[in-house]
Amino acid sequence: MPTRYNYCPHCNKQIVFKIELEDIDTSLYPAPFYLYHKNDECNKVSTFYVDSLLRVSYTELEKKKSKTGGIIKTIETIK
Ligand SMILES: [Zn+2]
Repeated sequence: MPTRYNYCPHCNKQIVFKIELEDIDTSLYPAPFYLYHKNDECNKVSTFYVDSLLRVSYTELEKKKSKTGGIIKTIETIK
């Protein structure tokens, strides 16, 4: 399970999360998932988009809707 390091678009703190291909809709890239920053000072959800290698392409502050109508999974940060 790949571990990814990035920054929360709400608080700009470094975050760590794990993601697998099964977590996303692979029919359209970049594929979105909701990222829940599990942190007492943040606790906010944003939308992250990843490519087919699960690398983050870009992020959005809000919870964006799926372009394919698929279910978007929420992933919690592990740090
Ligand atoms: Zn945050």
